[in-house]
Amino acid sequence: MEKLQNYIAGQLMDPVGQDWIDNYQPATGKVYSLIPDSDERDVALAVEAAQKAFPSWSVTSVGERSRLLLRLSQLIEQNLERLAQAESKDNGKPVSLARNVDIPRASSNFHFYATAIEQFASEAHIMEDKAINYTLRKPVGIAGCISPWNLPLYLFSWKIAPALAAGNCVVAKPSEITPMTAFLLSELCIEAGFPPGVLNIVHGYGPKVGQAIVEHPEIPLISFTGGTSTGEHIARTAAPMFKKLSLELGGKNPNLIFADCDFDKMIATTVRSSFANQGQICLCGSRIYVERPIYEKFKNAFVEKVKRMVPGDPSLATTRQGALVSKAHLEKVISYIQLAQEEGGTVLAGGQQVTLEGPLSEGYYLQPTVLEGLGPHCRTNQEEIFGPVVTIAPFDTEEEAVTHANNTPYGLASIVWTENLSRAHRVANQLHAGITWINCWLLRDLRTPFGGVKQSGVGREGGFEALQFFTEPQNVCIQL
Ligand code: NAD
Repeated sequence: MEKLQNYIAGQLMDPVGQDWIDNYQPATGKVYSLIPDSDERDVALAVEAAQKAFPSWSVTSVGERSRLLLRLSQLIEQNLERLAQAESKDNGKPVSLARNVDIPRASSNFHFYATAIEQFASEAHIMEDKAINYTLRKPVGIAGCISPWNLPLYLFSWKIAPALAAGNCVVAKPSEITPMTAFLLSELCIEAGFPPGVLNIVHGYGPKVGQAIVEHPEIPLISFTGGTSTGEHIARTAAPMFKKLSLELGGKNPNLIFADCDFDKMIATTVRSSFANQGQICLCGSRIYVERPIYEKFKNAFVEKVKRMVPGDPSLATTRQGALVSKAHLEKVISYIQLAQEEGGTVLAGGQQVTLEGPLSEGYYLQPTVLEGLGPHCRTNQEEIFGPVVTIAPFDTEEEAVTHANNTPYGLASIVWTENLSRAHRVANQLHAGITWINCWLLRDLRTPFGGVKQSGVGREGGFEALQFFTEPQNVCIQL
């Protein structure tokens, strides 16, 4: 069985403890590879390698850093098909999604930051006739980057690319549930000619490897994407050490549909924004509020479309709904469907686990599920489910829609459907969210700030925001 390895000091290596974790293929429910069960000893080796590499990498010219990142971006593009198949196998997502979104965006992330760093400049201020102030922007040191399983290579690269572009060295940990494309990335870094120790990838469990990264005194900044409770734990650990923190956490995103929307466009996009990647995108709109005059029309059209979405083999080009990422996650999502019914909800579509034929019979498949009849305060409408489950409910006024939208502890993304321009601006301005999409969803411009408010996170990624996070500003004041 294939054994993945850590990437430390430019080498692929086994974990010090020689322990391994089973890696399951969600489509079949079977173990198909082994990943290093690393611990703090492997993290210590990675930090040592990064420390050795930092003095030279931090002063490597912007042009050379950019060249290496562009090379990596090209290699991802050249290996797109292999990476897409690996991502689909490891995560359970339809290969078409990995091919069209995950892998191209991972390549774009490296391309974007390879060029952004060449545009990144700092400020200078004349202080009347007294002084000149300018701001140095220095790499911080060793960045700890920890990412989740839902968009594995895409979110991994979203952190690593700006960290490296800004001149930091990196110790990174992908999710133990989806380690494969991070491992393939380490092979591509070797092929690209990355200097040893600049990027180190340590595989393993969060409470072991992740915790060791967060606790390590030589890692002054942590960029984390994952669940809110993990983020809270990381914040508690890192705060007494005064580490710089970027936390991209969970969401419970509202989708507000007004009667004056472009109905056909809204329906097509709402199916995607509800169920893309089996609903396992932090930006999916899981609470759908529809203005009453079109509620029945929406409900009929939406439910009819959702009923036709049948989960299938993720490796087939025609599949649009694949498997959920793990057995534990499938069980969690099913438990929420049960909870919703206990809370008085009605299942309008889906709600059942699906058993496919032959080798796929033990895969983690679930019908896309639509629920109705739940109030805004119930647990189903307050807690993140992170699966193919949405609730629908009518609203009567704009004010009520905004109140429902803002009424959770989260504030990551929000979606608004209206053809009324004034309303679009007015509602967007009132939503407590880091991102608001009007008449679209998941349209991403990498220059924009990305992140959430409330329990959805602290800080912003994207564009120059990430380069600011991964650098330390220093004011230099020269008296005239
Ligand atoms: P998770 O919090 O369980 O794990 C995320 C990562 O943290 C994994 O690599 C895990 O091994 C690691 N980890 C776990 N315990 C740790 C610890 N004590 N110290 C350090 N690291 C630790 O999240 P998940 O289940 O992998 O991902 C799903 C969650 O991620 C959802 O809540 C989703 O909303 C969120 N998410 C947020 C965004 C965003 O941009 N805001 C994007 C994608 C996913």
